[in-house]
Amino acid sequence: MTYKSVTEILEAIKKKDISATEITKDYFKRIKASDDLNCFITLTEDSALNRAKKIDKDISKNNLKPLSGLPIAQKDIFCTKGVKTSCGSKMLDNFISPYDATVVDKLNEAGTIMLGKTNMDEFAMGSSNETSFYGAVKNPWDYEYVPGGSSGGSASAVAARISPCSTGTDTGGSIRQPASLCGICGLKPTYGRVSRFGMIAFASSLDQAGLFTTDALDAAILLKEISGHDPKDSTSSTVEVPNYHDYCINSDKKNFTVGIPEEFVNDLNDDVKNSFYESVKILENIGCKIKTINLKHTGLGVSAYQVVAPAECSSNLSRFDGVRYGHRSKKSESLESLYRESRSEGFGKEVKRRILVGTYALSAGYYDAYYLKAQKVRNLIAQDFSQAFEKVDLILGPTTPDKAFKIGEKMNDPIAMYLSDVYTVSTNLAGLPAMSIPMGFKEGMPLGLQIIGNHFDEKDILKLSYLYQKETDWHEQEPGA
Ligand code: GLN
Repeated sequence: MTYKSVTEILEAIKKKDISATEITKDYFKRIKASDDLNCFITLTEDSALNRAKKIDKDISKNNLKPLSGLPIAQKDIFCTKGVKTSCGSKMLDNFISPYDATVVDKLNEAGTIMLGKTNMDEFAMGSSNETSFYGAVKNPWDYEYVPGGSSGGSASAVAARISPCSTGTDTGGSIRQPASLCGICGLKPTYGRVSRFGMIAFASSLDQAGLFTTDALDAAILLKEISGHDPKDSTSSTVEVPNYHDYCINSDKKNFTVGIPEEFVNDLNDDVKNSFYESVKILENIGCKIKTINLKHTGLGVSAYQVVAPAECSSNLSRFDGVRYGHRSKKSESLESLYRESRSEGFGKEVKRRILVGTYALSAGYYDAYYLKAQKVRNLIAQDFSQAFEKVDLILGPTTPDKAFKIGEKMNDPIAMYLSDVYTVSTNLAGLPAMSIPMGFKEGMPLGLQIIGNHFDEKDILKLSYLYQKETDWHEQEPGA
């Protein structure tokens, strides 16, 4: 089968070159041949094929929706009606969701076919996809390396071409970081652009749903379908959703003023630096104006994030108590031991670490010293960005400090693990949209270029990515080719 992108698949289905059933069957064949990547927690083959049949019938009656017949993989953090939704945790290993998340609902409404639920770090806490109850996911470029996290299964699946696209969530980098390490596109929209309803909460003021694709146009097509106000999520925005795809193709905007923060490039190793400045040259040739800028407080991003995110998670995860749903210990003898044993058995090490840190940071006497201070730093970081966006249209940097690391390498060093998010967390603290696109390789492993935009300026991020991808073919490289 020669269809590679979302765009090509939709085109082929529309022209009736291929049926939804054929394309769905083809992807399940690919998934089964790549079983050892461990990308999926649950496959939904029967329901996918039934749905494909129904969509084919609709298509034969010329009833075509924007994404009719497009296979997609859903991160297992999104509730899916009648299908196990584990969030990568033993705590929810037995949880069958009674409803669909809004993202899932909208994608279904648009005509997609869900292939299954992808593996992820437990409750989206991690940068390597090694904290999953279902085992580590592998990087298709080299099975000894991590795919990044927490949306590692979704990223690895798109990179391995066993799903043309997938969903992810990004609280501190979990879409962009794995996209970078796997050599694909990962888009984290503005906070509030996409509904969080039915997306299992990690840190509610930072969490945002987004997408993995192989190129910018595909991301543009999908973003339109998942965006928009949702009455079920009061933090979702009423800002109008533009036609991102048409904007990419039709607008003649290309002379963007692009800011490069010194704080993002000063400490880079030579390989990443070289790839990055090669990309900058390409953008200059397109017509972009490059400016050096400063984001003075972003160096404090990881510290602030590692207080705010655990604080919110300690509150969000208190609902998992073994009473209404989720894992319940068989050892419990009293109400208190029911809570204690269920939570001790249900949560993994990293989740427990975050809950402990968060509870500590919020406790009386420490609140001012940690949580309040972190919130102040968060404000300063947001101010840095708003001042920068008075001078530039977009901000450019690497997505990660280095290529992927080896499975096991950072598991006993949480600080080293947290530092792999050094260039991604600040945008979450500021609620800004950002995207990682492939920009080259180091020793055979992909590197990512990060483009950050002002609030609700996903269209220009996508446009610049589209222009860059017209000049380069990094995004067309496939593992094992
Ligand atoms: N890697 C970061 C963490 O461990 C971010 C995770 C995320 O974005 N979900 O918290």
